[in-house]
Amino acid sequence: TDHYMKRDQLIFDLIGKEEDRQKRGIELIASENFTSKQVMEAAGSVLTNKYAEGLPKKRYYGGCEVVDEIEQIAIDRAKALFGASWANVQPHSGAQANAAVFLACLNAGDSILGFDLSHGGHLTHGSPVNFSGKLYDPHFYGVEQETGVIDYDKVEEQAKLVNPKLLICGASAYSRDWDYERLRAIADEVGAILLADISHPSGLIARGLLNDPLEFCHVVTTTTHKTLRGPRGGLILMRDDFDNPFGLKNPKGELRKMSALLDSGVFPGTQGGPLEHIIAAKAIAFEEALSDEYMEYVVQVKKNAAVMAEAFVEKGYQIISGGTDNHMMLIDLRNKELTGKIAENTLGKVDITINKNMVPFDTKSPFVTSGMRIGTAAITTRGLVEADMLKIVELIDQSLSSHEDDAKLAEIKATVNDWMVQFPLY
Ligand code: PLP
Repeated sequence: TDHYMKRDQLIFDLIGKEEDRQKRGIELIASENFTSKQVMEAAGSVLTNKYAEGLPKKRYYGGCEVVDEIEQIAIDRAKALFGASWANVQPHSGAQANAAVFLACLNAGDSILGFDLSHGGHLTHGSPVNFSGKLYDPHFYGVEQETGVIDYDKVEEQAKLVNPKLLICGASAYSRDWDYERLRAIADEVGAILLADISHPSGLIARGLLNDPLEFCHVVTTTTHKTLRGPRGGLILMRDDFDNPFGLKNPKGELRKMSALLDSGVFPGTQGGPLEHIIAAKAIAFEEALSDEYMEYVVQVKKNAAVMAEAFVEKGYQIISGGTDNHMMLIDLRNKELTGKIAENTLGKVDITINKNMVPFDTKSPFVTSGMRIGTAAITTRGLVEADMLKIVELIDQSLSSHEDDAKLAEIKATVNDWMVQFPLY
């Protein structure tokens, strides 16, 4: 096709600009990472041309012999990585993975109980602006104002009150580990299915650095592009399959297995053709995540986050819950008389990328916010270690305390750029 299509230089120039931005800056967005070259190569391959509705060996299209092999390898590697007995690798994203689970487990109007978005939860766990809040009856639990930590007794109280059919744990901005065993006891008490959305810490969980949700949760979803360091995408897992406890039957009147409900929740429930190029890239990322090199990586991610959190605390920053167990931290900027918006804009000027974030019990709007969220997944891939974390905290602190001094910010930006050149990317 290249011989009659003109190369779209406008777009490729912009891709070049984005690559440059990624290279010269310090990437601290907690949900981002840098995939390997082979992951990107697979994601940009001829597999994008293929339709393959269905599952390996059970397709609605011809010519699927090769993609069947690829998808089966992706499934097998996902299972090996997480100690699962079942996996669906087709969700196009984390939101899609959650949509498929909701469709499989719930009827419209059913009660769900998730972690409050404004306390660190995700939109797809019942926010009124999302399908999950519009189609179902959403209820929430949150953290304690004093401690910034979830009180599981209160989750239990709330669960007994609202009788959810689906209890959801997992977050986008919670720096503490989860008590999945306790959550399962709560779910059992009220007859709910327990879903863990481990999108953020899934890489740390896969390698045993955090509690294992698969041991206690009926279903687990994750994105593949955060700490897991794969292509943008989603994944659904179960350690053990089970007969659907709600007694849903198939057209033949047989009880359906949860795996069958989840598979059809993905396709035809919420998606059409799977992205086989992305599935190939996921397969590669899962194999990478099983390596010794990746194990060293996730250990370093956690160390870097711990050191960074401590350095922020020493400089008088208030970290929600006082520290971190994982790869990220949420900082309340109110005692520094800053907003999340000012922090994001100021740090943007020095090529340090973070995102503004609501903090629990925030008094500002989601466009302004009182907090910033920071994670170490991307910079650790880049090769930065503990001593570098201290330097980053120093640069952030200097930038924020001189946020009205453009000359000073220009100076810091030059320091950031000169420093990052020493950590080649691609
Ligand atoms: N679930 C959680 C906990 C997340 O943090 C995210 C992404 O931010 C998602 C789901 C959604 O993933 P995606 O952006 O791939 O749809």
